[in-house]
Amino acid sequence: MASILLLKNAELYSPVYMGKKDILCIEGKITKIGNVNSAHLDLLEIPYDILDLEGMFLFPGLIDPHEHLIGGSGENGYCSRSPEMTIPEIVRGGITTVVGCIGVDTITRNMHSLLAQAKFFNEEGLTTYIWSGGYSVPPSTLTGSIKSDLILINEVIGAGEIAISDVRSSEPTLAEMGRIVSEAYIGGLLTGKAGVTHFHLGDGKYHLKFLFDLLEHFDVLPTSLYPTHLSRNPQLLKDGARITRAGVTIDFDTCEGDLVPALKAFMEHTGDLNFLTLSSDASFTSPGFLYEQIKEAMKVFNWSLEKILPLVTTNTARILKLRNKGHIALEADADLVAVDRSTLEINHVIAKGKLFIKDGKSLYNQLILDRSNRKIEIYGKKK
Ligand code: ZN
Repeated sequence: MASILLLKNAELYSPVYMGKKDILCIEGKITKIGNVNSAHLDLLEIPYDILDLEGMFLFPGLIDPHEHLIGGSGENGYCSRSPEMTIPEIVRGGITTVVGCIGVDTITRNMHSLLAQAKFFNEEGLTTYIWSGGYSVPPSTLTGSIKSDLILINEVIGAGEIAISDVRSSEPTLAEMGRIVSEAYIGGLLTGKAGVTHFHLGDGKYHLKFLFDLLEHFDVLPTSLYPTHLSRNPQLLKDGARITRAGVTIDFDTCEGDLVPALKAFMEHTGDLNFLTLSSDASFTSPGFLYEQIKEAMKVFNWSLEKILPLVTTNTARILKLRNKGHIALEADADLVAVDRSTLEINHVIAKGKLFIKDGKSLYNQLILDRSNRKIEIYGKKK
């Protein structure tokens, strides 16, 4: 049975403002934007769902390029490990596409586990990719190399998060970094996937120097580099703004709740907003913290959805080469978020045409729950 969902009277941000329109989604794709008469659908005598979005804005589902989907290993011993992410907490934050990563621990939080989690999420309808490698060099891959991971495994989108300028980095040489970037690039060329290298930046004293050196001394394209955590300190923010002007897309994680001062500093350093993305870096903090800060930034800077959405939709889709994601258009994936017009609170979340959140409540029912009597409660105390 084809899945059909009709969204009526939505005020659209594609992320560009498009006015009030209906959207028809069939089999996970946007198949019509404009006026759709439900009486005509009734004539077909096939089941379909309909949602009236009067009083709501509708925009593309957010793309989160950096989440620790299998949890992270805390840095205060085994008792500081964080639990795995769940689908309801991801979609509750308006996220419909996510890229998972492993971090400093590549032994107990390994690529095989991450791949299995991505496959599970994909089976359920949440678009999920993974970075291959983790912090250290040589990277912890699934098949022996970044290149073969990209070529052989659908979910692998690039290399990362490779740690540099960090006390926890394996201190790769410039040549080793160049080799990883090249492998990822070739893997991307042969598969049509992003093939970028996602660099984790720490508080080390060299800041972005290694990436500027890569661009200067090696045949590395700016579009092959995608550094994150650049809101971590003032010098990284300054370097980050500078490297966007060289055509490198950078990412700010939002797990410290510092998006507003980070954006302020980025603009003061004349960074290019077209080359900036935002991620949740969820592990200890919730994926939904990203959207909370987007709302706060809109209020503080008096920005429209049209101005801020590219940082979590079109910019991210461009660097990750996700051609059907991050925008509302014909044939694009039906990944959509409906929010209250005045409060911007999330009402509905649709991923590939499937309704995950309706009226603020999760509709998702994990398969194992039918066979389980477990009760799991986690309420983080962090505000
Ligand atoms: Zn990181």
